[in-house]
Amino acid sequence: MSKGFVYLVGAGPGRADLITVRGAEVLGKADCIIYDKLANPALLRYARAGADIIHVPKRIGSTSVTQKQINRLLIEKASGGRIVVRLKGGDPCIFGRIAEEIAAISEAGIDFEIVPGITAGIAVSSYTGIMLTDRQYSSQVVFVTGREAEGKKESNIDWSLLAKYPGTIVFYMGMGNLDFIAGKLIENGMSENTPAAVVTEVTFPTQEMAKAPLSRIGDECRQNKIGPPAIIIIGEAADSDKSLGWFTKLPLFGKNIVVTRDSVGNADFAQEIIARGGNPISFDTFKIVSLTDSNEFLRALTEFADYDWIVFTSGNGVTVFFEALGKLGKDARVFGSAKVAAIGDRTAERLLRFGIKADFVPNVFTSGEFGKQLLNFTSLRDKKVLLLRSQIASNELVELLQKGGAAVKDVAIYTAVTQKHDSDWLSEKIDNDEIDWLTFASPSSVEGFFETIGSETVRKNNVKVASIGPVTSRQLESHGLLVDIEADEHTLIGLLEAIEKTYK
Ligand code: SAH
Repeated sequence: MSKGFVYLVGAGPGRADLITVRGAEVLGKADCIIYDKLANPALLRYARAGADIIHVPKRIGSTSVTQKQINRLLIEKASGGRIVVRLKGGDPCIFGRIAEEIAAISEAGIDFEIVPGITAGIAVSSYTGIMLTDRQYSSQVVFVTGREAEGKKESNIDWSLLAKYPGTIVFYMGMGNLDFIAGKLIENGMSENTPAAVVTEVTFPTQEMAKAPLSRIGDECRQNKIGPPAIIIIGEAADSDKSLGWFTKLPLFGKNIVVTRDSVGNADFAQEIIARGGNPISFDTFKIVSLTDSNEFLRALTEFADYDWIVFTSGNGVTVFFEALGKLGKDARVFGSAKVAAIGDRTAERLLRFGIKADFVPNVFTSGEFGKQLLNFTSLRDKKVLLLRSQIASNELVELLQKGGAAVKDVAIYTAVTQKHDSDWLSEKIDNDEIDWLTFASPSSVEGFFETIGSETVRKNNVKVASIGPVTSRQLESHGLLVDIEADEHTLIGLLEAIEKTYK
C-alpha cells in the first residue's frame, strides 16, 4: 500500500466507548490520526504508541481555506504508504463535509474506507429517552441543518413543508439560529405549542436538556445557559415519557471527580467513573518508572524457576514485569512450576491478560493481611518466595513471611516518581466550586497532589475528599485535611461506592 490509505472514521457522539469496534480497530493501526473538535480526545487511547496525532480545530464560520488545509494535510500524511485516520464527530457522513475530503484524497490517488459512527441525532434518543419514532405520534424523522453552507444563494430548507411535517424534526448546528428556526416554523403555520427539546453535550456527563413549547424554547435555553453543541428536537416526540431516560439518573451523573493516580491508572479509573455517569478529571500526580534494568531483577529472573511462590502486589507490578520480559525476548514460560499469588482481583486480572492464572488471590487490601492469609493457605516453611513490587513498599510482608519460615527475596521492579506540572487550571476549578470530589488511591497520590496544589486551596473550598483506606487517609490528615469519606472496601470500586453512598 505504498500510496497510503485514509480511513474516515466516525468517533460517535461523544462518550469514548460509543465508537464502533471497527473504528477502534483502525485507530489502533493508524500512523497518523487527525481529529477535530467534536471527537472525544479520550479516543486516543485506542491509538498505538508513537502515532502522529494532530488536532485540527475547525470552528463555526471557518473558511474553505481551513478545509483545504485539512485536505492537504490528509494527502501529505498518507504519502509514503502511511495509514491515516481522519476522526470525525458522530457519523462522518452526517453533516461532516466528508465529500470534500474524499474528493481531494481520491484525486491524489489515495484509497479510503468510511467507518460509520453513531450520529448525535440518534444517540440523543437513547441518552434522554426521547423516542424519535413512536407508533402513536411519529412515524418519521428528519435531520435538518440549522446552519446552511455559507455563500449558498438559496436555502435548501423548505420551511412551509417542514412546518407541516407530521413526525420528529431533528436540527443539528442550530443553536446560533434557534430563535430564527422557531420563528420560521411558526410563521409557516406550526403551532407555537409544539413541544421542543434541546439537548447539549449528548452522552457526556455534562449532558443537559431544556424543554419548552416551540415559542419559548430559545428563552428556556438562555435561562438555563444551554448552548452548543446541541441537538434540537421538535415535534410530539420532544414531550415523550420522562421515565424512559436512564443516563442522567446514574448515581454519579454530572459529578466532577478528580483522579490523582498515574496516567495509565487514571485512564482506567476514569472508565469506571464514566460508567457511573460521572465526569472524571485527570490530574496525574506520579509516573511509574520501571526498575527492571537492575542487576537484582535480572539475577532473580535467571533463578525464576527455583522459586516456590512469586508474588505480585499490584497491577503496575504485573505490567512492568511483562514489559521487561518482552524486551528480554522471554515469555510466561519463565514461571515454570512456581506458584503465583496476587493481591486483589485487579492484579489477578492483569496477570490473566498475560496468560498467568494466579494460584492464590485473597480479597485483602493490605500486604500485612495478605501475608497472614498466604500463611493460612499454605505452609511456607523452607519455601522460596519472590516478591516483585514497588520500591516504596513496607517491610511488613517480608517479616511476616520470614516468620512463617520462608526464604524471601524482595525485588523492587518499579517506583512512583512524583510528576510536577501546571496546576493553576485545577486550583481555579476548585476555587470556582466546579469540582465535587478529589479522590486519592495511595499515599503517593497524596504527596504528588500536594506538591503542586496547596492544601489551603482544598481546605478553604467546598470540594470533598475521598480516600481509599486508612494509610492514605493518614497521609491526607498529615496535610491538615479532613477526609470526608473513606472506602469500606479498599479498592477503586470501593472508593466510588463510598462516594455514591453520600448521594443516597
Ligand atoms: N457528524 C456529526 C455532526 C457534525 S455537525 C454527527 O454525526 O453527529 C455538528 C453538530 O452536531 C453540532 O452543532 C450539534 O448539533 C451536533 N452534535 C455533535 N455532537 C454532539 C453532542 N455530543 N451533543 C449535542 N450535539 C452534538
